[in-house]
Amino acid sequence: MGLFLVLFVALFVGWIMGRKNSTLKNKPPKKSIPKDYFRGLNHLLNDQHSEAIDAFVDSLEVNSETFDIHLTLGNLFRKKGEIQKAINIHQSLLARPEISEREMHMVQMELASDFMSAGLLDRAGRLLLNMASTSRKTEFQSKILSLLVDLYEFEQSWDKAIQIGDELLRETTSKKEVKRQAHFHCEMAQNLQKDELWKPAYQHYKDALTVDPSCIRASIGAADVLSGQGRHRDSIKELKHAAEQDPEFISVILPKLKESYQKVWGSGGYIKFLQEYNQKKPSTALIVALSQHYMETDPEYAEMFLVEQLRRHPTIKGFKELISLQLTDSQGYNQQHLAVLFELIDQLTQAKHKYQCRQCGFSGHQLHWQCPSCKNWGVVKPIHGLEGE
Ligand SMILES: [Zn+2]
Repeated sequence: MGLFLVLFVALFVGWIMGRKNSTLKNKPPKKSIPKDYFRGLNHLLNDQHSEAIDAFVDSLEVNSETFDIHLTLGNLFRKKGEIQKAINIHQSLLARPEISEREMHMVQMELASDFMSAGLLDRAGRLLLNMASTSRKTEFQSKILSLLVDLYEFEQSWDKAIQIGDELLRETTSKKEVKRQAHFHCEMAQNLQKDELWKPAYQHYKDALTVDPSCIRASIGAADVLSGQGRHRDSIKELKHAAEQDPEFISVILPKLKESYQKVWGSGGYIKFLQEYNQKKPSTALIVALSQHYMETDPEYAEMFLVEQLRRHPTIKGFKELISLQLTDSQGYNQQHLAVLFELIDQLTQAKHKYQCRQCGFSGHQLHWQCPSCKNWGVVKPIHGLEGE
C-alpha cells in the first residue's frame, strides 16, 4: 500500500511539474523539485520495483528542469545493473534538440560509463577519445581522462593508461591518480622483467618512483631487477630504502634482503640490519629471523631473547617460534605435548590470512598490488597485531 501511495505522489508531482512547464513556457520556474519527489524515488528504489521506476521515468517530461533527474535515474539503473535502461535514458537525453554543450558532455560521460559497464569497451573508448580531443580545457577534461584511464586499466593496456595518465596528471594532483599511475609503470616493468629486459624494466620502476616517491612496489621491483643482474649491493640499497618507505612491508622485504646479503657479504650485514631495525620497529618477521640466527650460535640466549621480545611484541607467530625452540630441548611426554601444541598453532597461523586491504577490508594469502575487491592500488598490506606480524 505504502509503495503505491508514494508512487502516486511521485507521479502526481511529476505531472504537476510537466504541466507547469508546458503552460508557463515563458516564465522561469520559481520552485525547485520538491523533496518528496526524491524521497518517493528512494523508497521505490529500495523496494526494487523496477516497473515503478519505469513508470516514473515515463511520467517525466524531458526538459531543463528534469534534466538532472533523468541523469540521476540513468546512473541508478547502471548501478543496479540494468545497463540497457541506463543507455536508453542517456541516449534520449542526447537526442534533445535544446541540450546545451555542457549538458551534452555530462550525458556523454555517463553514456561512456554505461558502455564500459556493458563491456562495450570500443564504443566507450571512441566516445571518450572524441570528447578528450574536442572538449580540451573544459571543466570535464580531468573526468574524461580519468574515465579513459579506467578503461585502459580494465583492458590492462598499461602503455595507453600511462600515456593518458601523464595527460591527466597535468590536470590534477589527485592522490589516487598519482598512485595508480605509479602502479601502471610497475605493471609495465613486471612484464618486461619476465622477459629479462632489465634495463627498460628498471626505467619503469624509476619512472614510478618519480611519479610517486612513496611507491614501495617500485623500490622492491627495482631491487629484484638489480639482483637479477647480479648487482646485489645496489639491490640491498633499494631494499633498505623500501624498508624506510613503509616498515609494514618488512616481512616482504626480509627474504629478498637476506638473499642479496648472502651473495655479497655473508650474513653479518644482514644480522646487523635485523638488530638495528628491530630496535626501531619490532615485527614478528624480524624477531623470528633474529632468534633463528641466535639459535645457531647461542641456543640459550635465543630463547631468552624470544621471550623478552614476545613480551614487547606479542604475536601468535612469535609464540609458535617459542614452542619450536622448546621442542628441540624437550624429551618424552613433554616433547609429545609440545608437538601437538605446535601442530595446532601451525595450522592456525596457516589458516590466517596474511594480507588485508586497508580500504575495504578484503583479506587473503597473497599480496595483491591492486585490491581484487575495491580495485584500489597499493592498499593491500601485511596484517599486523596479535594474529599477524
Ligand atoms: Zn580493497
